[in-house]
Amino acid sequence: MKVLVINCGSSSLKYQVLDMTTEALLCKGLVERIGMDGAVITHEKIGMDKVVNETPMEDHKAAIALVLEAIQDSEHGVVESMDEIGAVGHRVVHAGEKYASSVLITDDVIKALEECIDLAPLHNPPNLLGIAACQELMPGTPMVGVFDTAFHQTMPPESYIYALPYEYYEKYGVRRYGFHGTSHKYVAQRTAEMLNVNLDDLKIITCHLGNGASVSAIKRGKCIATSMGFTPLEGLIMGTRSGDIDPAIVEFIADKEGITVQEVNTILNKKSGILGISGISSDMRDVLEAAEEGNERAMLALKAFAHRVRFYIGAYIAEMNGVDAIVFTAGVGENSIPMRDIICNDLGNLGIKLDVVKNKVRGKELIISRDDSPVKVLLIPTNEELMIARDTYDIVTTGKTR
Ligand code: AMP
Repeated sequence: MKVLVINCGSSSLKYQVLDMTTEALLCKGLVERIGMDGAVITHEKIGMDKVVNETPMEDHKAAIALVLEAIQDSEHGVVESMDEIGAVGHRVVHAGEKYASSVLITDDVIKALEECIDLAPLHNPPNLLGIAACQELMPGTPMVGVFDTAFHQTMPPESYIYALPYEYYEKYGVRRYGFHGTSHKYVAQRTAEMLNVNLDDLKIITCHLGNGASVSAIKRGKCIATSMGFTPLEGLIMGTRSGDIDPAIVEFIADKEGITVQEVNTILNKKSGILGISGISSDMRDVLEAAEEGNERAMLALKAFAHRVRFYIGAYIAEMNGVDAIVFTAGVGENSIPMRDIICNDLGNLGIKLDVVKNKVRGKELIISRDDSPVKVLLIPTNEELMIARDTYDIVTTGKTR
């Protein structure tokens, strides 16, 4: 069976088609500037050159119609007709407390996801637009929702409750949800496969370090704690997001700068993090380069970033009473040799011994701890699209996920 994976943002959309008999990626693409001037679709059939086609598209339905054309194209397509697509997997950011795993999309599911719009006002609406467009253009093809929050639903209450008046949890659903769940789940499963150990026998700390970043504690395959919270603003220092701060800072800055709480919130989301501390860029590559040239604020941003990752690693080792494996994934985790070095430096007493030679690798699956390291350190490129395709295939063929 071939599965189409759709990840729909507000003005862009990523897609892939995978053949689930071999899990081979057949094609992938990106639509940008949906509904704007200069809208463009970039399509790549694996093994062939990319095709870039600038063409007007007024909405998500028009964008998805172009995707369907691209995947059926006589030269660059991967199917002869849409009948070959057995199911569509949709990435959806927020499913609240409603779903702890991926589900077949029905009217009830759509309703539940609409009820979560309050919790993810920037993400769920475009995700829902993508689903609606596919339902219209591919009637009869099963659709599956794969949620960023689902994997974290196994957290125990003490891990997700905030110490606020309990009624805010009851009335408004104010609690920790966690995000990047598909990525954390994927790398945890790959860890078990790479170590040739049953996932049920492992305590894993997964570090998804990208532009957005989060850490999870995974015990016996279940998430028991994660650093992102009610929104993806909490936890680690990120490209432009502050991560954890004293909540009193919000009102203090609003007063001092004469701005609203909403404006402070925007600053915490878009002007803070690595960008805020360094004053240079949100891109780790630029900041690493500036640090090498001796820029002190760049250096401080890198040290602060690593400090927060180490802080969570320590906390999660305590939470799980030990750890068997620490995994690095996503843009920074997969590619930044110095960042992995700084994070793992001087953790020998915790049984974490990075092999500085093996660590000199980018973007490829590898165990990068020393052979005598009791805790294994792994580099695993994440593959959220494969995970979405797998869940989609599993749900339509067996009714459940693995
Ligand atoms: P993601 O959100 O997973 O796409 O990750 C994006 C982040 O990965 C950006 O901050 C990039 O600077 C970072 N990144 C990508 N390649 C490298 C690299 N070679 N070294 C350091 N950071 C990198």
